[in-house]
Amino acid sequence: MKPLKRIAILGSSGSIGTQALEVIAANPEEFAVEVLTVHSNADLLIQQAREFKPNVVVAVDSAAFLKVKEALEDLPIKVYGGAEAIEQVVQMDIIDIVLTAMVGYSGLLPTISAIKAKKNIALANKETLVVAGALITQLARENGVNIYPVDSEHSAIFQCLAGEWDNKIEKIYLTASGGPFRGKTREELLHVSKAQALKHPNWTMGAKITIDSASLMNKGLEVIEAKWLFGLQNEQIDVIVHPQSIIHSLVQFEDGSMKAQMGLPDMKLPIQYAFTYPYRMKTDFPRFNFLDYPSLTFNAPDRNTFRCLDLAFLALAKGGNLACTMNAANEVAVAAFLEERISFLQIAELIESCMEIAPYNNSTEIENYIESDRLAREIAQTQLIKLQH
Ligand code: NDP
Ligand code: MG
Repeated sequence: MKPLKRIAILGSSGSIGTQALEVIAANPEEFAVEVLTVHSNADLLIQQAREFKPNVVVAVDSAAFLKVKEALEDLPIKVYGGAEAIEQVVQMDIIDIVLTAMVGYSGLLPTISAIKAKKNIALANKETLVVAGALITQLARENGVNIYPVDSEHSAIFQCLAGEWDNKIEKIYLTASGGPFRGKTREELLHVSKAQALKHPNWTMGAKITIDSASLMNKGLEVIEAKWLFGLQNEQIDVIVHPQSIIHSLVQFEDGSMKAQMGLPDMKLPIQYAFTYPYRMKTDFPRFNFLDYPSLTFNAPDRNTFRCLDLAFLALAKGGNLACTMNAANEVAVAAFLEERISFLQIAELIESCMEIAPYNNSTEIENYIESDRLAREIAQTQLIKLQH
């Protein structure tokens, strides 16, 4: 009998985490869940633990930890609390692959810890590569660890590259849906609400990435993610708006041939591929029908209106800790927008001012990224107060 693939899911209560559990539930002969972690959603963690019987669960929040511990007392499941517990449990011998599906900077240290323990990574948490791509890829090389992309665009490129490992990439195109505000002018965006920004046309995702998609920062983060995942030069990465989200991204080779990966938008497919690579596993997901999509359209992103994409290209060009600074400022800005403290267009304004002020350096030590992140958040809070006056 084939051994089960034993999986740790970091961020199991989120959009990616719950879809990963759907993939696992549909294939009990392939996968076993060993670890589940959340920040504070105790109720869902309890329910997931009862259903999937993992070895260990972690809740970062202390009240959530106490609630989960009490609720699971009748089961032989270890329950831990606190952020450091995640860094420890990812190292357990019983884990084959770690799905990083927590949101934002919080993914960085657990991912490093898992790589050092030689665990393969199914990477959804793109912010980890944005913050510390040079360090993460170096650690993965040193430890012989594979990083399988879960982000749909990067999974598409990875799928196009299968069997092409010796062929040089000329360039890649990351497709972007354009989000809910595609085609809008700056004037039209002046007063858009949080509810409007949270309405993504093609994907249902966590709040942070949904706002990133509306501002095009998500595509900016993905450009930097692609650089590190595929070892590309900056000028090899391009973005094209494709509102139907059917072509998930493209690779252009040196002979001019282009390969694209297509399908209906459903994150369960890239999640599953990251778990089963190099194999494909049968699914009953709905199939694409050409006649439902008589035209697939493409246009250039509007980088003047959606400044965040330009800021990410700037961070890519300058390298060093600038992407780390940008990411921290973006997390502060998105949280402030979700609390209705700043307007939609002020997200880019806040990030840009932090990128101008925060000190630049190009050290790849972990302490540097931690300090750059901390400082950028501090600067962002000061800039936020200025913006509100
Ligand atoms: P969600 O907001 O839906 O879920 C986030 C998960 O992380 C939850 O389980 C949450 O727990 C946990 N979490 C939040 N903050 C912390 C923290 N400080 N420490 C530990 N755990 C934490 O996010 P998504 O699932 O949408 O996104 C997850 C990652 O995947 C992001 O990096 C995103 O960019 C990426 N991604 C997502 C896609 C999608 O379709 N959703 C597509 C491509 C990439 P709790 O519920 O308790 O707060
Ligand atoms: Mg994506």
